[in-house]
Formats: sequence, C-alpha cells, structure tokens
Amino acid sequence: MVRFKVNEIFHSIQGEGTRAGRACVFVRLTGCPLRCVYCDTQYAFYEGGFMELAEIVQEVKQRLGPPQYGPDAPFVELTGGEPLAIPGAPDLLRALQKLGCEVALETAGSHDLAPVPKAVIKIVDRKTPGSGEGHRWLESNLDHMVPGQDELKFVLLDEADYTWSKAWCAERGVWDRYTVLFSPVHGGLDPAWLAERIVADRLPVRFQMQLHKLVWGPERNGV
Ligand code: SF4
Repeated sequence: MVRFKVNEIFHSIQGEGTRAGRACVFVRLTGCPLRCVYCDTQYAFYEGGFMELAEIVQEVKQRLGPPQYGPDAPFVELTGGEPLAIPGAPDLLRALQKLGCEVALETAGSHDLAPVPKAVIKIVDRKTPGSGEGHRWLESNLDHMVPGQDELKFVLLDEADYTWSKAWCAERGVWDRYTVLFSPVHGGLDPAWLAERIVADRLPVRFQMQLHKLVWGPERNGV
C-alpha cells in the first residue's frame, strides 16, 4: 500500500498564482531537500503523519464537497515541502485527478517534471540566486511545461534578483509561453518598488502578493 507523510490537508483560499482567490483544498506533503533562505514552510520539513493514498483522496473529496465545474470552482493543490521529492507523488496527482476537479502542483523546479500528468497545472518556482537554491533548477523542466496552462513563479529577495530574473526570462522568451509571476519576498523586497519596476520596464509578467498572508497574517499555518 502506497503511503505518504502528510504535513496537513486544509481547505482555504488560494493565495498565489492566476487562481488566487479561489477556494482550494491543499495537500501538503512532508519533506524538502532545499533550504531557501526565506522559506515560510519549515514546519513541513519533518512534521506530519502517514496516510494511505486512498485516505488522502477521501479526505480531499470530503473537503471539496459535491462536484462543481465552473471557472472558479474549488480545486486541489499538491504542495510541500517539495512534493516531487516524495516517491509516488505523480500517482497521488493521478488519483486526485479522478475526483474530476482541477489539480495543481506547486514545485521548486528542482525535480523532474516528466512523470507529472500533462493536465496537472504546474506552478514552477524558479528559484533565484537570492533564495540560495538557484543552482537546483532543472532546465529540462521547461520542456515538460504546457504553454498557456503552466506558470513560472519568481520570488524576489532584492533588486539583484529582479535584474537576474528579468534577464533569465528574456533569454528564453518564457513569457511568450507561460504566465510569469513576480512576487516580493514577504517582509523583504518593497512591493511598491517591484510593481513600479515591472510597469516601468514594460515586463509581460504578473505582479502578485501572497493573499493568504495579507488576510490572515504571515505566521498562521493551515490557510
Ligand atoms: S522549496 Fe519551498 S519548502 Fe523547500 S525550502 Fe524552498 S521555500 Fe521551503
């Protein structure tokens, strides 16, 4: 029987990406081999309890309630930690897809995306130099992202991160294929500075902030 160490399963509002504001059931798996300097989920490095795949799917189903299919219907996101560091994560994604709702995956882009089902919405966090984990990036992951569906996220610590990210995107033309999200590290880079630079530089990227931290504060888990 396939088992996963689960840090938490909770029902909240998606705080990031193009689905921000939509109700979402989050499944947070335990464990991450990265150590980003600004990590806000260190509690997911080790804490959690084991659950069988079927138990996870059943709990998600209960939290989602009756099936809904509109553009803003509740959906489910697998997150961490780093979900793809956990063996069997693609199987869990496939099982969640069978619930019939949208399924999203939040990943650092440090692990191979090839085994992830194409229709899973991949929100890929391209770690910047400021994170301390930029070298973990797997460039081949760009070949496994679906244009028009998947998203590339940059969490920027400072101006050097902004300059680096802008150059990285321009070299590859990624903003012609994917939604590119630039967000400031919470409590780090000034959001107004970032928004103004994006506008002044005419970047085809989407500014975002972590909605859940604005609503519930930065310290609260499970939201
Ligand atoms: S990849 Fe995510 S969970 Fe892992 S250290 Fe970085 S921010 Fe934290």
